[in-house]
Amino acid sequence: MVAAYTDPTKRGEGINLFVVERGTPGFSVSRKLDKLGNRSAETGELVFEDCRVPARNMIGGKEGGGFAQLADTLISGRITYGARCTGTAQAAYDLTVRYAKERVQFGKPIVKFQNTRFKLAEIATQVDVMRTYTYRVAHLYDQGKNVRKEAAMVKLFTAEILQKILGLCMQIHGGYGYMMEYPIQRFWRDGRLYTVTEGTSEIQRMIIAKELGL
Ligand SMILES: Cc1cc2nc3c(=O)[nH]c(=O)nc-3n(C[C@H](O)[C@H](O)[C@H](O)COP(=O)(O)OP(=O)(O)OC[C@H]3O[C@@H](n4cnc5c(N)ncnc54)[C@H](O)[C@@H]3O)c2cc1C
Repeated sequence: MVAAYTDPTKRGEGINLFVVERGTPGFSVSRKLDKLGNRSAETGELVFEDCRVPARNMIGGKEGGGFAQLADTLISGRITYGARCTGTAQAAYDLTVRYAKERVQFGKPIVKFQNTRFKLAEIATQVDVMRTYTYRVAHLYDQGKNVRKEAAMVKLFTAEILQKILGLCMQIHGGYGYMMEYPIQRFWRDGRLYTVTEGTSEIQRMIIAKELGL
């Protein structure tokens, strides 16, 4: 699916969504991008050169409605990021608790050090808040409420707090956390994407500020 201007002078009102099928003359995937994380889902660079797309491939009957369609998709998409960030945080927490119970230093498992316990207590609290808030916004969305602001808030909050959680989990793993043989690094690499994709944190802040009427 491609979002393209049919009339750039109309800015947002001039955007439409099109299905562009593989094999359409002028459309190609120039290369597979080599990513830091999320490597199980491929990301490619798409090239359009004199690519003509028939009007029947336009999604929705009304020309100029693409931006609204995108905005709708982005709202539900941002809520799913709440779930994605919560799941990543929970998995990282679970791995870290297991590691902290196994790793012995100075004669005891590191989970017995107050420093480790405090970090884990903080993470568990944050994951609970992430989950609860995601459910709340998803529930409002299911009821058909306008959650443009809340969807941006849940994406912003969960993606940003996830960075702190993953940093703490890496720290508790010590040097082993930096090794590819320990799975925590994968969550750290994958989770780094979430403040960028589906609208960066800065864009979420802009949406929230606008919705607050600031
Ligand atoms: C793995 C991966 C998969 C992706 N998949 C898709 C996909 O399937 N479909 C798709 O369409 N896109 C996809 N993207 C693109 C992604 O949506 C963009 O990377 C993201 O929206 C940020 O845009 P940008 O990279 O152009 O950053 P830029 O817009 O160049 O932003 C750079 C920095 O400047 C900040 N910034 C930009 N504008 C402003 C502003 N007005 N005010 C304040 N700060 C600002 C940004 O927040 C950011 O910190 C993907 C990206 C990645 C990394």
